[in-house]
Amino acid sequence: MSVIAAAGCGSSHQDEFSSFDDYPVFAGEWEEMVYSPSSTRFSLWAPTAQEVRVLLYDAGQGGSAYKMLPMEEADGGMWKTTVEEDLNGKFYTFNVKIGDVWLGDTPGLLARAVGVNGDRAAVIDLDATDPQGWDSDRRPPMKGFSDMVIYEMHHRDFSIDTVSGIRNRGKFLALTEEGTATYLGEKTGIDHLKELGVTHVQILPSFDFSTVDEARLDRPQYNWGYDPKNYNVPEGSYSTDPYRPDVRIREFKQMVMALHRAGIRVIMDVAYNHTAMARGSNFERTVPGYFYRHAEDGKFADASGCGNETASERPMMRRFMVESVCYWANEYHVDGFRFDLMAVHDVRTMKEIRSALDRIDPTIYVGGEGWTVNPPQLPEEQLALKRNIGCLPGIAAFSDEFRDSLRGVWDDDSKGAFLIGKRGFSDGVKFGLAGGVPHPQVKTDSVDGPLRNWAEEPSQMISYMSCHDDKCITDRIRSTLPGASVQEQEALIKLGMTAVLTSQGIPFIFAGDEVMRSKLGVSNSYVSPDSVNAIDWRNKTVYRDLFDYTKGLIAMRKAHPAFRLGDAELVRKHLEFLPVPSDNVVAFRLVGTPGGDSWLNTVVVLNADTAPAEIDVPEGKYWIVCHEGKIDNVTGLGTVSGNKLTVAPRSAMIVHQ
Ligand code: CA
Repeated sequence: MSVIAAAGCGSSHQDEFSSFDDYPVFAGEWEEMVYSPSSTRFSLWAPTAQEVRVLLYDAGQGGSAYKMLPMEEADGGMWKTTVEEDLNGKFYTFNVKIGDVWLGDTPGLLARAVGVNGDRAAVIDLDATDPQGWDSDRRPPMKGFSDMVIYEMHHRDFSIDTVSGIRNRGKFLALTEEGTATYLGEKTGIDHLKELGVTHVQILPSFDFSTVDEARLDRPQYNWGYDPKNYNVPEGSYSTDPYRPDVRIREFKQMVMALHRAGIRVIMDVAYNHTAMARGSNFERTVPGYFYRHAEDGKFADASGCGNETASERPMMRRFMVESVCYWANEYHVDGFRFDLMAVHDVRTMKEIRSALDRIDPTIYVGGEGWTVNPPQLPEEQLALKRNIGCLPGIAAFSDEFRDSLRGVWDDDSKGAFLIGKRGFSDGVKFGLAGGVPHPQVKTDSVDGPLRNWAEEPSQMISYMSCHDDKCITDRIRSTLPGASVQEQEALIKLGMTAVLTSQGIPFIFAGDEVMRSKLGVSNSYVSPDSVNAIDWRNKTVYRDLFDYTKGLIAMRKAHPAFRLGDAELVRKHLEFLPVPSDNVVAFRLVGTPGGDSWLNTVVVLNADTAPAEIDVPEGKYWIVCHEGKIDNVTGLGTVSGNKLTVAPRSAMIVHQ
């Protein structure tokens, strides 16, 4: 690897290594700051450094260091020093010298507490950040991954609207406030989530990211947060005081605890695949080159499309990722992780992450995007691509097949699919309904077509029609079916929700889709203002019907194990697709009793046609629980007898025999 020679001159250790493979791997406990009232130990893994020093500050920002201490070289590329004083409340940075040049200040790789904007790490007593009752905080019970219903949200989108009635708008604490409502009386915040019935919230990046200036929170700023700075610290702009290192930590924990009390688990969106920038990043200021992959010309490779890609295959980067997720799971009681561009990472790293989390709690969820923006610098068979999910048991990936078959392709917002009545997408819809596993009635492409089975188990497939990327479903329907009335739009969203929530995969809803949220047609809203991104909670009153429908579907899914069989063999045995009159209709039957419960057979029909659809079903008496945009899983909507079901245009029907 020629790339590492670039910065090598002078008497740095860099000259001793001819490749990153030669870098020593540190095997002991990897920590950078260990505090006790009598002393603080600092360490930094910097095997190529010529000198390392730690700088102590009184504040997280401004002023100069009041003390600068040289660190001593130890085994495995470590540098160490101990300060025999009580440093609680102080801040620190490391400074690494390579080739006679001091690289810039860095809070290190593992900082667990930082000052404003994450530029300096903080010495704190982590135990003192635990909110009251933290010791008794427990993950809500969960049997299998198929029982999950994920709700993906951005802190600011979810609560920034003044109509939300939430005090800590746009903050972690927004999700701790109970009893909040709009002026029209609709529940918001955590009460909204409870009312909807989701089992997991997936929060967009909530680790410390770069773009939002935490020192200027007096003005509105927005970013999704896929620009990581400090991986092991919560983002400051979501706290009520980004200057005080303990506040963001405590408030994140309060959020988790409140959600757990509401019976909801928390999934963090993690972006280890790239950093906000490569040059000047904490990685580069510590061990230049090591944590990133490089292209043949020596430049940073860019599988992420964000200017760089990390190198999970290198032992210390792999260890960094494994220990970072375990830290969030242990210290913050986080219940799951969604890996941004997971396929930038290698299979072995993802496997190690799965096993490490299994040792903490095997019900901790791991899922991610099984694709990359540009091809990574590793052979395909080594990457956590969707097609390699078979060798990653217990890890799920998003199904673009299902998504695109429902709402249309990702790279052309004007193209619709099954939902708006286009033909040629029913196979993709069936693919998603079966949880992506091979099924005798689902036609897949044998070689390189868009439909190829990759999930071994249905709980490895995430079923969705929209997420933070691309247009939200209302905007997508509007742009693909211009001229449709609001009632028609709503009907099609209900149809899509029915597909997602009756799929054998893990259903996933983008926050606000259940109240017909619009992002004013913006598809890449990552820096758009609140006027685009905020959920307008008045919608909950206007589109109450859609909300009730979605809520009804979730309740039905939870009540019937048949919708979440959780096993590929059971799916093949119990899920049977029925003959349909046209390609605009998909119908299936869940046959028999997998778990010994009381239901018999269930029929689901998705009719995207503008005409009624007639479906042949086995002779019998059927109890209608969903039809014509209404759902009632408790008392039902009536009965129908015979061997035919007539399903209204652009609507779903669900009946139990
Ligand atoms: Ca930040």
